[in-house]
Amino acid sequence: MERFFAGKSVSFEEAFPEIEEIKIEATEGSLGSGFSERKIVLSSENLSEIEPCSNRTCEKGGYDLGDFISTIVYKKDTSKSGVISCSGYEKMGVKDKRKCLNGLSVKVEIRYK
Ligand SMILES: [Zn+2]
Repeated sequence: MERFFAGKSVSFEEAFPEIEEIKIEATEGSLGSGFSERKIVLSSENLSEIEPCSNRTCEKGGYDLGDFISTIVYKKDTSKSGVISCSGYEKMGVKDKRKCLNGLSVKVEIRYK
């Protein structure tokens, strides 16, 4: 469990005390080629705020699950699906870079206390 709030390292339970149970089914892929490459199932046991990007040429990448979950909890929704874009970039030669095109298609289910 890492940095559920920027600057502070708190556990999932501390960050979201109102959540009894959370289940996330995610599929990672490239936005150009569909979502079928890497399947991930997460719960409060193995969840990190930032799920790493598997693109080897991607730098500073990752998927901000913490932000996605915060939005759901704020609205007290019990489920939400969406696509989280990778926040990293790929180096193109010495100076140029382009945004990493990987994305994480997620389905989140939450049960509140
Ligand atoms: Zn990436």
